[in-house]
Amino acid sequence: MEIKASQQLKILMKQHFMELDEASRTKNKKIAWCSSVGPAELAMSLGFLVYYPENHAAMLGSTRTAMDYIPVANANGYSPEICSYLTSDIGAYLRHETPLTKAYGIKEVPRPDVLLYNTNQCRDVGDWARFYGREFNVPVLGINTPHTQNEAREHVVKSVSQQLRDIVPDLEKVSGRRFDIDEFRAVLARSRECSVLWDKVLDTASNKPTPLTFFDECIHMGPAVVMRGRQEANDYYKVLLAEMQERVSQGVAAVPGERFRFYWEGMPIWGKLRNMSELFARLKTPVVVSTYCNSWIFPAFNPANPFDSMAEAYCSIFIGQDDNWKEYYIAEKVQHFAIDGILFHDARTCASNSNNRYGMSQRLSEKLGIPHLVINGDLNDLRCFSEEQTVTNVEAFVEQIEESHRENIRRH
Ligand code: SF4
Repeated sequence: MEIKASQQLKILMKQHFMELDEASRTKNKKIAWCSSVGPAELAMSLGFLVYYPENHAAMLGSTRTAMDYIPVANANGYSPEICSYLTSDIGAYLRHETPLTKAYGIKEVPRPDVLLYNTNQCRDVGDWARFYGREFNVPVLGINTPHTQNEAREHVVKSVSQQLRDIVPDLEKVSGRRFDIDEFRAVLARSRECSVLWDKVLDTASNKPTPLTFFDECIHMGPAVVMRGRQEANDYYKVLLAEMQERVSQGVAAVPGERFRFYWEGMPIWGKLRNMSELFARLKTPVVVSTYCNSWIFPAFNPANPFDSMAEAYCSIFIGQDDNWKEYYIAEKVQHFAIDGILFHDARTCASNSNNRYGMSQRLSEKLGIPHLVINGDLNDLRCFSEEQTVTNVEAFVEQIEESHRENIRRH
């Protein structure tokens, strides 16, 4: 059943890109390109519109055009083994093509005035930004955040907070505006509200039956990714939340006949989102929670203490933590969402977001007493994904869960 708010979502996303396109053509506003969990709120407080190359890359993935562009970047020295967001996005740029043309009639991606990144997620975002910095001859401002940092959290947050302060003069220079801490607080307050609303939307999936699935969430997370900090995103999530709450109160199921519930760990397979959604619907086993969609919840944002709290929030993202912390996080979600099985997506070109590689999947299964399945694939490079093999494996996995449930019933 289609989510009614989807129509509003389409309008909102169109507005976002049309506004960027206008700014790019008329120069009426400055544009910052930013990694997905980079210092966007700071840029917005100085009047920048923010464009996210990762969001563009996900569009390349979901339209399956990524496959045309990855080889172009490979031919320019970017390995097929590195982030396929990066390679597809750079490849599309080199070919002067974008899915924005077909979707919105926009000729080219908006031109940046400055590039921002944060290595809290991976090193690739820095290399990606530096490529465009060379191409467009604009400043590249990076926040360098180390990973697996629990023990060093206090020092890391302090350093990141200082790094955020340090880029302000450069941002002022590019924007032509004076930094205003109250404006920064206001953006952060809106971003925080967005985060709270998105969290509530995701939490409706803890109900049985779930009113939405991971595959819906991948679409509806758009405003939390590209418009957090803006009132429009918050208005949108109020509408979506009301619709999901209504579904819950009326017992409307995203997947009618829900039998088992899954956790998705890792990146989506953008080019196969629909197929995967249909597969799990057919098996009546919705994927109800994921690390990925939860990654845009930032409880630490505090407008009263904007730099330190932003540093804390962006240092606390799942991807930057050690395995102990990640296992604790997943265990908590497994319990809260009443999960029957965990799916680990081993994304070939994203080691940072593939958590099965150092034994975590086994450890969690043993600790929690629930099975897991590793799906080999990729976010954008479909050469790394065998649909036939995956369908067979998922079907067998569901059968295994069914059998163990039958066995439990027989025993009791
Ligand atoms: S986290 Fe993974 S998918 Fe995201 S930019 Fe880094 S390498 Fe690419």
